[in-house]
Amino acid sequence: MPFSSLRGIRSVLSYYQYLRYFQLQQRCLVTITDEYRPTTKSRASIKGVELLRNPAFNKGMAFTLEERQHMGIHGLLPPAVLTQDIQALRFMINFHRMNNDLDRYTELMNLSDRNEKLFFRVIADNIEELIPIVYTPTVGLACQKYGLVFKRPRGLFITIHDKGHIYDILCNWTERHVKAIVVTDGERILGLGDLGASGMGIPVGKLQLYTAIAGIPPQHCLPIMLDVGTNNEEISSSPLYVGLRQNRVTGKEYDEFIDEFMAAVVQRFGWECLIQFEDFASHNAYRLLERYQKAYCTFNDDIQGTAAVVLAGVFGALRITSTKLIDNTYLFVGAGQAACGIADLLTHAMVREGASIEEARSKIWMYDVHGLIVEGRPQGDLEGHKAPYVKKGKAIKDLAAVVDFVKPSMLMGASGVGRLFHEGVLKKMAQINERPVIFALSNPTSRAECTAEEAYRETDGRCIFASGSPFKPVVYNNKTFHPGQGNNAYIFPAVALATIACSARHVEEDMFLIAAQKLGSLVSEDDLSNGRVYPPIPKTHEVTVKIAAHLAEHLYATKKAWNYPEPDDKEEFIRMQLYDTSYEYFGPKIWNWPEKHSAVRSVPSMDENIVLQP
Ligand code: NAD
Repeated sequence: MPFSSLRGIRSVLSYYQYLRYFQLQQRCLVTITDEYRPTTKSRASIKGVELLRNPAFNKGMAFTLEERQHMGIHGLLPPAVLTQDIQALRFMINFHRMNNDLDRYTELMNLSDRNEKLFFRVIADNIEELIPIVYTPTVGLACQKYGLVFKRPRGLFITIHDKGHIYDILCNWTERHVKAIVVTDGERILGLGDLGASGMGIPVGKLQLYTAIAGIPPQHCLPIMLDVGTNNEEISSSPLYVGLRQNRVTGKEYDEFIDEFMAAVVQRFGWECLIQFEDFASHNAYRLLERYQKAYCTFNDDIQGTAAVVLAGVFGALRITSTKLIDNTYLFVGAGQAACGIADLLTHAMVREGASIEEARSKIWMYDVHGLIVEGRPQGDLEGHKAPYVKKGKAIKDLAAVVDFVKPSMLMGASGVGRLFHEGVLKKMAQINERPVIFALSNPTSRAECTAEEAYRETDGRCIFASGSPFKPVVYNNKTFHPGQGNNAYIFPAVALATIACSARHVEEDMFLIAAQKLGSLVSEDDLSNGRVYPPIPKTHEVTVKIAAHLAEHLYATKKAWNYPEPDDKEEFIRMQLYDTSYEYFGPKIWNWPEKHSAVRSVPSMDENIVLQP
């Protein structure tokens, strides 16, 4: 059915009636239109050189002699047969010979284009070293240089000029069973601002973590860039820029475009397809979350995922300071989507612990580019999601003076501005608190509000520190400190895994609080004594499975899971669905029968006196 007629139907129905209509029509729409669509090649239909060129199936020199002969690729590979272990070792040797992180990023992406199983195997084996390459901070650099590092497309690029045809473009994606989409419009990539279509590195990287950390099969994941233009002329004027060279489309046209995208995803991939919004600018992020949260299976990682991971770090810090949430005073530096998302979840958690909403909010202060957020300040608005946190107080601009005035026990940086926590700010935190909590959350590393080294040095090694991008251990006064990384990768893959495994219809706010509590509880006493408020990154996969199993318990208990019958053991149920990086067997499938039935019969001798029936 063409989109123009769907729009006609929509004009006479309410939004929810329209969605219901879509749901009912979906099955027949799919059977009519999909007959003419390309579909993913099945493993059985691929043979010969095509097998070596398909990253989902190619296993390079690990094909055995029997497989090479059976699949028609004998002679197309050097004669030696290697194990995946040797291939992984060879890759890492080459990887370490690269001179810089951008080259390492390109080498990794090239591997994912050649051999997907090996790619995810090396990430799983070297997670601490490779997450900062496929994700923050290196992915930020890769986005800034996207035109240069671009070799071949990954995911779908849908532009504003494709309005009215989004469903058709989704149908060009050959995999029919997409279960998770990460989508961006590239307007606020990490703390780097508007990178337009070059922001595609982010959905690609996030979905690679879906597989590497949460074991969600790569064929179920689809990265999407919604290109509505860019206001970053420096980027769009480059001859290497890959996106539309025009200013961003905004307003009604933008909203209609996103509406059509959401509906087209449901039409093509079904209600249960999870849509993660990523790196949209604040002015759209909140609006879109509120608009779609109850109608689709969707969440915004910058708001909700960040909130959960930071809250988990707060829970870890509370175990060190032996205080409760309500005993602390929080100062947010930056009052955008990340800060407001964290503040809202923090409030929610305090209320769950028995505080009134007013009491909870009274503990949270905010500071933005115009200074402390107080009534009647001379500059800067007080509207939107920061409104509940506006206080009566002095309009102070200097951050050290703000710290002196508010006397926070926890200082949270989410400004996207590097080095805001200068010596004066950190020293003040150390003066006020025995164990100051300092989270420098802005990404990439160059935008962190302070480095781990600065935080430990200026607070005499007493602070509890976490950051958004990774920092190496710091030796101060002969003691080694292990900075925690408030990496969203602890939360969004787990939330996605539970949602997909349980076929939940919506990603509800409570899931983030539950995930944060579980993550906080998984930090060992040993980690806490080393100053870590998060589990070590190499444990991310195990942590993810535990959080997802816990979320699955919650989804079944609250009747929000639709995958029936309900499994008894939720952790086993989650583990059964995980992607396996070991290679498939491509030889002929052979099995035996009892000898009596499989033996070849010969012509009986005439002496046997057998009567031959016709
Ligand atoms: P945003 O654009 O929505 O908000 C930025 C806020 O910072 C605004 O309130 C702005 O007024 C304020 N600000 C700007 N300059 C400032 C200055 N000089 N002093 C004080 N405040 C200033 O951005 P966002 O989505 O909230 O993201 C902010 C940062 O948080 C980004 O760097 C992002 O990478 C980071 N982040 C980290 C994590 C994580 O660590 N897990 C997750 C999400 C976002």
